Amino acid sequence: MKTKFKALAGLLFAIGLVTTASAQRANQALMNGPLKAATSQEEIQNLKKGQKYAKVCMECKSITVKEIADEKEAAALCHDGGTMHCDSCKKEVRVKRGGPRGNIITSTVEYVNSEGKECMFIVPIPKE
Ligand SMILES: [Zn+2]
Repeated sequence: MKTKFKALAGLLFAIGLVTTASAQRANQALMNGPLKAATSQEEIQNLKKGQKYAKVCMECKSITVKEIADEKEAAALCHDGGTMHCDSCKKEVRVKRGGPRGNIITSTVEYVNSEGKECMFIVPIPKE
């Protein structure tokens, strides 16, 4: 029984360490920058579940770090005509696709305000 408890404690400790280490890696990635914005449909669509990304709002000059919850979220981020909100100023932003249709590599994604001006961008944060 005692050994089992020890093993469990060790496991929990290990999980704690892993989490801290990955948080450190994310911080490191931010510190080591520069990180580039994802501007093509391919880059945004390929964001995987658990991938962290920064949502940069130019309207209120804020950065919100988010995590992709599922594939649907990545798809929504590059869905032409779709909308999302800045977590800080709550302004609505519209997804605007450009470039040749049907080619996810050259198809561009922009986030525009009600005047059609680019006002937000997404920066994937590398895992390590
Ligand atoms: Zn904002």
